[in-house]
Amino acid sequence: MKLLRTKSYINGKWVTGHRKFSVTNPYDQSLVAEVEDLSRDQCRTAIQHANDAFKVWKKYAAAERAAILRKWYELQMEHAEELAYLLTLEQGKPLAEALGEIKYGASFVEWFAEEARRVYGDTIPGHKRDIRITTIKQPVGVVAAITPWNFPNAMITRKVAPALAAGCTVVIKPAELTPLSALALAELADQAGFPPGVINIIVSSQASEIGKEMCANPLVRKLSFTGSTRVGKILMRQCADTVKKVSMELGGNAPFIVFDDADVDAAVAGAIASKYRNAGQTCVCTNRLFVQENIYDAFLEKYTAAVKKLTVGNGIDSAVVIGPMIEEKAVVSVEKIVQNAIDNGGKLVTGGKRVGAADSLLFEPTIISNAQRNMQVFTKEIFGPITPIFKFETEAEVIELANDTPYGLASYFYGSDYARIWRIAEALEYGMVGINTGMISTTVAPFGGIKESGFGREGSKYGMDDYLEIKYMCWGGVK
Ligand code: ADP
Repeated sequence: MKLLRTKSYINGKWVTGHRKFSVTNPYDQSLVAEVEDLSRDQCRTAIQHANDAFKVWKKYAAAERAAILRKWYELQMEHAEELAYLLTLEQGKPLAEALGEIKYGASFVEWFAEEARRVYGDTIPGHKRDIRITTIKQPVGVVAAITPWNFPNAMITRKVAPALAAGCTVVIKPAELTPLSALALAELADQAGFPPGVINIIVSSQASEIGKEMCANPLVRKLSFTGSTRVGKILMRQCADTVKKVSMELGGNAPFIVFDDADVDAAVAGAIASKYRNAGQTCVCTNRLFVQENIYDAFLEKYTAAVKKLTVGNGIDSAVVIGPMIEEKAVVSVEKIVQNAIDNGGKLVTGGKRVGAADSLLFEPTIISNAQRNMQVFTKEIFGPITPIFKFETEAEVIELANDTPYGLASYFYGSDYARIWRIAEALEYGMVGINTGMISTTVAPFGGIKESGFGREGSKYGMDDYLEIKYMCWGGVK
């Protein structure tokens, strides 16, 4: 594996820590690599270098930054197969999905290489005869990014590409479970020719220590986080003392509603795609499936037949569509959620347990019918291959159910009446709505949530805004 790196990347150099930790394959717990474990002091050093580099990088012409980003994108596409293989080894998702993630991740770099040239300001009619007003947009400064294990590649590029395009420099802390995809991106960034200090990657098992440095250090002007709502709240509190700009892409509790005028086969396919991707471990995965009573039985029958066909196993095997869960505590959490549903009257239609050995991280794709509001499947982010199916009667009832959560990230529904489609899309309190589709993520659209799912938008023409400040210039004496 030519792109396997175990040292961290600071100021254009590969750096060792004072100890190491292991990265293992979630499929069989085999050792993938021993990586260097960096300290809070080393994070501080990286921030200092990023701050020095910012003075240089922000002066580059947009077209110059774009050219280096473009080169980075091309290198990612050239090495897509190897990046995907490495991703599957450390994360477990099936190889085809991993390759999809690499292409999706690279597409942000391509997109923001283009957007770099379009950071326009305004000319605004002055409020007095001798006044003229203009605005410019400037990079916020050093950006710290903390990213999760479920998309070890794309969650990095989705933050770093707009930051770099805007003229910011970055210090990234990838999830300790999946640092290798991040380090491979650093190697390709090195080859692409970013000046030293523009991109820095700190791998560490001390997440909270690194987080504290990133939040407390006044040189960091912006923190972008993707992960749990619990950790997002900690980071927001920690950022208060230096009044940092923050973007938060946090947990979800996505409803997926099937109305009785929906194309049932299409809804089944959409629900499977949305629910079982990455073994149910994405923040936009369907969490609660609501089916209108007239088609409930027909839907359940078809959905069950489709779920039973999903093959669970080693992501490297091309027949496999559901890989292992990320770690033991993730499986334990899902087991408890299933048991809670059964204890409260839920019916286990299929699945419900691990596949193979007692310590296996493979979990059967599971369906629970007769799901109810008092169950954890309603209130918690499941983050595993479990579908709870709820029956509903009216539009008003399902909207109330769908919105009854502190989360507001993704939502989905299937139906054909266009007036109702507008009513439901407007009534759902979510940042994103999939209408007759279960797949909504794309570079060209603004990804992000409301309520306790966070704020800020990634991708699209809005994706640069999180990394830019607006400066207004008031020109007087224009007589
Ligand atoms: P998940 O539930 O997806 O693992 P987490 O929020 O625990 O989500 O992790 C997302 C990222 O946040 C990871 O990079 C992890 O190392 C990091 N992290 C976890 N706890 C903290 C913390 N207290 N401060 C800073 N980063 C943290």
